[in-house]
Amino acid sequence: LLVQATNLQAASEQFRAPQIPKQERLELDGTIELGADGYYHPTHEKEVVALINRARRMTSSIRVRGSGHSVPPAIGTDGRDASGAAIDVLLDRFIRVRFDDDKMQVTAQAGCHLGRDPRDHTGTSTWDNSLSVQLDRRGWALPDLGGVSHQTVAGFLLTGSAGGTVRHSLADSVVALRFVDGTGTVRELKRGTHPEFYALGCSLGLLGILLEVTFQCEPRYDVMGTETISPWGDLAFSVNRKTESNHSSVSEFLRDEEYCRFLWWPQAGVNRVVTWRARRMQSADYGDEHRKQGALRARPYRALGSEMKNARLARVASVAAQAAGGSFYDTVAATRQALTWLEGHGRAWKGLRRLSQPLFEHGLLPFVLRRFVPLDQSAPQVFRDSWYRALPMDNDMVEQLLPTTFTEVWVDLADAPEVMSLLRRHFQRHGRSATGDYVFEFYAARANQFWIHPGYERDSFRINVFWFERNRESAESFFGQFWELLAPFRYRLHWGKHLPNTPCLGPDYLSQQFPKWDEFLSLRDQLDPENIFLNDHWRKVFHLV
Ligand SMILES: Cc1cc2nc3c(=O)[nH]c(=O)nc-3n(C[C@H](O)[C@H](O)[C@H](O)COP(=O)(O)OP(=O)(O)OC[C@H]3O[C@@H](n4cnc5c(N)ncnc54)[C@H](O)[C@@H]3O)c2cc1C
Repeated sequence: LLVQATNLQAASEQFRAPQIPKQERLELDGTIELGADGYYHPTHEKEVVALINRARRMTSSIRVRGSGHSVPPAIGTDGRDASGAAIDVLLDRFIRVRFDDDKMQVTAQAGCHLGRDPRDHTGTSTWDNSLSVQLDRRGWALPDLGGVSHQTVAGFLLTGSAGGTVRHSLADSVVALRFVDGTGTVRELKRGTHPEFYALGCSLGLLGILLEVTFQCEPRYDVMGTETISPWGDLAFSVNRKTESNHSSVSEFLRDEEYCRFLWWPQAGVNRVVTWRARRMQSADYGDEHRKQGALRARPYRALGSEMKNARLARVASVAAQAAGGSFYDTVAATRQALTWLEGHGRAWKGLRRLSQPLFEHGLLPFVLRRFVPLDQSAPQVFRDSWYRALPMDNDMVEQLLPTTFTEVWVDLADAPEVMSLLRRHFQRHGRSATGDYVFEFYAARANQFWIHPGYERDSFRINVFWFERNRESAESFFGQFWELLAPFRYRLHWGKHLPNTPCLGPDYLSQQFPKWDEFLSLRDQLDPENIFLNDHWRKVFHLV
């Protein structure tokens, strides 16, 4: 049997917010108004239920946006039709947290951000009201965070997002979920009690609107680590399964490091790897004067400008470098377009292209890329900081300056050496069309029990393929080669990133990789009988007509 419907009235009292002015309290009879930004902003779970009931009455669709970090088609409805029916929801007034000191558990409303979202157009997201800072102040922590912490609690969980570690898992720390299903019923699911908990934990907004998440927390901790930039030949690990040298294989390496990710710039003339690794600090790691909890003299990680002592200068240098990076990639895109034009316009132009292309591809491009990833001159960058500042190492990247979109392939961690060798051969054989001009990120994730989580019951090796969003070519045509190349490894994909359109790599393939795929879909039929949570994207992904 599915879970018990809970007492809506009693529950709704729990989060009644006296500080919300009267005139902002919306009617619950179906007259909740659309915000000027095109979103509905419910303040209370009764209003979420009212919106769901309205979607059912109007045979419309309803979806929630978190911080909008997933690919856009995965987030919203397909847009309002002539009747103005589709309902897009933003939970920016659903951000409260409450603590259970006895159990060391925190319950966060679904719209609460893990950190601060710099792109939040409502202006609600601050460091102060972020889950991480509220936990840290209490002396608590989450086990793990992603490379950025801009996401909402719900958005991060529901797509199966994770940081780079096989030792810890945010998914494992979730103990209860509260949501409204597609019949307007509020339900509470608990780990170990309700089997459907494991369906809802990563459910892409297809089973209902998540209202609250309860996490098991742990004592706060600090993190220390290093980042090295080395040529491919000097890697700290081997890409072979059995190694003759004393290097561990890439799988062992990712298991041994507590938190780790590496970035590979595989272009000919560059071929460099940036390895970020870190671990929780133990008492022996603190100098005597900083031994007290929370009194660490931080040495923040810097993605760019690490050589600068002054924090403000380093920040300016980092922003300038990112702006330069964006302009560089715009120039590369324009140059490629010009070279293609030359090819199609007569012999003289073709000749010019033949002359200029190698200069561009083998001279200018690698020259500039090497400037972006300069080899370590002496010692690697060393950092130490509190957990919520150190783990999201890309928080300082300004997404608008270097807009990036991704596809992320998850394979069995044991297959990492084969995958790396295959990628290396692929890059060597196909050159720039395979390497692109950007970077590949590799990290690991711990196995978990969520039915359609890409890490369901297997530790995973993750290949995150980057694509500069302002490139003229489509991201799919570049990503497609990796979906095909890695198909023998029975991959699963990150749900918040690009997914294949073709059935043989999309629904037909993916359905084979998740043992609980059919169970998930029949639960979806039950919880959303009128299909109000579906949009075109998810219809295609799950082959639902
Ligand atoms: C710069 C950048 C860095 C990233 N780093 C990482 C990383 O390190 N690790 C990783 O695994 N991923 C990473 N991602 C992917 C990102 O974590 C996911 O896309 C995540 O879903 C984003 O969360 P969000 O709050 O933006 O949710 P959104 O993208 O807005 O929404 C995600 C999905 O959840 C649904 N949804 C949101 N809230 C609710 C709710 N309350 N109820 C029902 N459905 C809801 C949405 O409709 C959508 O389908 C990164 C993405 C970017 C752009």
